[in-house]
Amino acid sequence: MIRFDAVSKRYPGGGEALSEVSFHLARGEMAFLTGHSGAGKSTLLKLVAGIERATRGQIVVDGENITRLPRRRLPHLRRKIGIIFQDHRLLYDRTVFDNVALPLVIDGLGHREIARRVRAALDKVGLLGKERLNPVVLSGGEQQRVGIARAVVARPPLLIADEPTGNLDPELSAEIMALFCRFNEVGVTVLVASHDLGLIRRLGRRILRLDHGRLVDDGRPGAAA
Ligand code: ADP
Ligand code: ADP
Repeated sequence: MIRFDAVSKRYPGGGEALSEVSFHLARGEMAFLTGHSGAGKSTLLKLVAGIERATRGQIVVDGENITRLPRRRLPHLRRKIGIIFQDHRLLYDRTVFDNVALPLVIDGLGHREIARRVRAALDKVGLLGKERLNPVVLSGGEQQRVGIARAVVARPPLLIADEPTGNLDPELSAEIMALFCRFNEVGVTVLVASHDLGLIRRLGRRILRLDHGRLVDDGRPGAAA
């Protein structure tokens, strides 16, 4: 689903944010991306989503070489990827329902199909019954779950999340990570950036570790190196 071949990224005027990073995340696989602040986690996710471009190397997402993707092809790539941000980026001038419905409205689906899918997505994240509320009144953990519902509502084959539990306490963080595991169990490919090593080690999934832009570790906790 994601293949990086010797990918490097240098921002204008900066040092190398990623250096010669290579890995493959198979369809249906789930991995965490970890490393200290500034290690390159966000940069790697932005390259996957076509938000930034690689300086060198090659990136393939869902069988498509996106390394030099023309701008007009970006919407096609984005539709395959559900993105979750640390600050969830909800719109506070509309309801939970309308926040989650947004990707489907953009895709031009009919009202009835939108309503059905939004409720299915809210059900998956345990927020059925809150669709008429404004996200302002929800707790931080609930707001993040709205962000997850919005990311999955169009059923993308790939979910990427950038520090989705960065603002949450340990218990809520564990619940959010469990949600990602559940989406993975129904076939969604998942890549989650998190510096919370204690939490992600307990989940027993593959962990990619970046250090100063280099991929220094790629394995499962406890597995022989
Ligand atoms: P992480 O997500 O692991 O904290 P980032 O990918 O945000 O790491 O950052 C990796 C490196 O790239 C850091 O040195 C950061 O300062 C630099 N960087 C990130 N974004 C930009 C940008 N837009 N312009 C210049 N440098 C950037
Ligand atoms: P539907 O009634 O639309 O078939 P499901 O009950 O199967 O929905 O799933 C509910 C929601 O869970 C979906 O709208 C989607 O948000 C998410 N979901 C479930 N399975 C997948 C999948 N394989 N890929 C992406 N998202 C999924």
